[in-house]
Amino acid sequence: MERLHIAFFGPANSGKSTLVNALCGQEVSLVSPHPGTTTDPVRKAVELPGLGACVLIDTAGLDDVSLLGPERRRRSLSVLDEADIVVLVLPLSQKTGQQQQKGGVNAVNVPELGTVTALIEEAALPTVLYTRGESVESLLERLKAVAPKKEELFLTGNLVRKGDCVLLVMPQDSEAPKGRLILPQVQVLRELLDRGCNALCCTPESLSSALERMNPDLVITDSQVFALVNRALPASTPLTSFSILLAAAKGDIRSYVAGAQAIDKLRPGDRVLIAEACTHVPDTEDIGRVKIPALLRKRADVKVDIAAGNDFPEDLSVYSLIIHCGGCVASRTLVQSRIKKALRAGVPITNYGIALAKLQGILDRIVIP
Ligand code: SF4
Repeated sequence: MERLHIAFFGPANSGKSTLVNALCGQEVSLVSPHPGTTTDPVRKAVELPGLGACVLIDTAGLDDVSLLGPERRRRSLSVLDEADIVVLVLPLSQKTGQQQQKGGVNAVNVPELGTVTALIEEAALPTVLYTRGESVESLLERLKAVAPKKEELFLTGNLVRKGDCVLLVMPQDSEAPKGRLILPQVQVLRELLDRGCNALCCTPESLSSALERMNPDLVITDSQVFALVNRALPASTPLTSFSILLAAAKGDIRSYVAGAQAIDKLRPGDRVLIAEACTHVPDTEDIGRVKIPALLRKRADVKVDIAAGNDFPEDLSVYSLIIHCGGCVASRTLVQSRIKKALRAGVPITNYGIALAKLQGILDRIVIP
């Protein structure tokens, strides 16, 4: 189940951090009487009564007029991409709370919130107003009333049935985290057990001996070794990747498949954006920074930009193609919002798994949930 992301916006010193701390029952954000104490968005995972697993996101005051104000405002507003619900926190001096609840976001008459209310309207996000001094319990009740239902994400979708034998190919090379499996591998493995399937795990090195022991109904591989695994399998054995399963669950798989066709049209000098939902220290074998750019440049001498974490560029129109990572740590809301932005800008978007299948010439061969 995905966490519900609740973002708190308001003018400086309206009580956003105090409210987030009260909801969490601990001092997550530093609170002070000085305006501008919160500078960057602060995220806290928490269980809220009646709402379940949530991420609360405290943001900087939207009326920050300091030198860094515009950048802080930009970072605060970027939180709208991952928000499922917005809480507009008004200082005590704003007496418009109740009438705004009825009138919708447009009825908010706080000049400092002008841009954010327009953006919330555009994104059609459920919004709750909170005036400093109201009880946390009444806020929780209103949040419960507007919270969108989070669907259960099934990664393997319609690709498996109870009793199926599934082979998982998971390279444990220098890029793999020491002593543990990565999140999509753990999630898929758990889901297969829950669905009554038999799962066998192997590395590319032990693939042939695994195939001697099992005639799989489905093979799920790391996308980086797609070509190698494909060569080892009969053409009739369904093949997919962890990244493709994630893309289907969190993204828009049809847009991704359509977007991958742009790889054939890349010309020297074109700009490609590699977008990753988290920040990590890249390895020499890094898929997004090394392997995919190298495969792209075999086709055309393109310029590759990297955007990691929350730094998704505002102007996408300069790109001929966007390739997004699997987004294993990102919410479906965030990934969907990035896809919408790309399509609105008229830029094709695909993801790592689909792009690697295309670049290795096996996109028609893989199965998609
Ligand atoms: S969020 Fe993206 S880049 Fe980060 S580990 Fe997950 S798939 Fe890789």
